[in-house]
Amino acid sequence: MPEGPEIKRAADELSAAIKGRKLTHVYFAFRHLQGFSDKLRGAKVEDVSSRSKAILTRFDNGLTIYSHNQLYGRWLILPDAEYPDSSRSLRLALHTRDSMALLYSASEIEVIKTSRLNQHPYLSRLGIELLDQDTCLDELVSRFEDERFQRRKLMGLLQDQHFISGMGNYLCCEALHVSGIHPGKCLADLNRQKRQRLAKNCFKLTRQAYITGGITNLITRAEKLRKAGRAFEDYRFHVYRREGLACYKCGASIVKDRFSGKMGYRCPGCQSLDN
Ligand SMILES: [Zn+2]
Repeated sequence: MPEGPEIKRAADELSAAIKGRKLTHVYFAFRHLQGFSDKLRGAKVEDVSSRSKAILTRFDNGLTIYSHNQLYGRWLILPDAEYPDSSRSLRLALHTRDSMALLYSASEIEVIKTSRLNQHPYLSRLGIELLDQDTCLDELVSRFEDERFQRRKLMGLLQDQHFISGMGNYLCCEALHVSGIHPGKCLADLNRQKRQRLAKNCFKLTRQAYITGGITNLITRAEKLRKAGRAFEDYRFHVYRREGLACYKCGASIVKDRFSGKMGYRCPGCQSLDN
């Protein structure tokens, strides 16, 4: 499933194509939304942003389209013309004078009054947004000290969007590895220094992944591997999808295992339960 950085990049792309433009035509596949086509025609796109794994497209008429891509949803932006042939189901199309933004396969699409966004069941329960410009590291560090979250296993906790928002499976595995922490531990098992280090790495790696298009490995190392001819998927991570390969730090063989019911990756040398 795409994680915060991928969704934010999709929102940026959508924003570049339609922000500030008026909609000339809107298509909704879901019957219960079709009544909004007329209400949105002629409306200007004021903003496109992401919150966790949702994209919000805000209009100047007081309405916002909420879309959550889940696993398969994908935006495609093209010059305004006929819809392309696709095996995917077109769920939403936003047309402007010269381009069209097509959303395929997403199952969660809603049209909401912008003034009521804060009451939305998904949005209202989101934790600290790692990719929000206004989020600062101190705020995140305090979150990691909060009593309510001390007993949850980290593999589940870090991916829980109500705790912090923006990380999924790959960012979680990578942040735990860089912090030298076993995925089966809880915040309560760590000393304050380690909790701070983990908070900092969650913050740093999520932002790095947003800027670089998904690289959590050391930038210098990733660049070196890229120049040596390695494929993107082979140089972007420290441990994720690297089972059986040597840890860059200690040389131990990376293992793939299930932690708190989620598949993950760790280095047995750097991330032992005794650390
Ligand atoms: Zn290691």
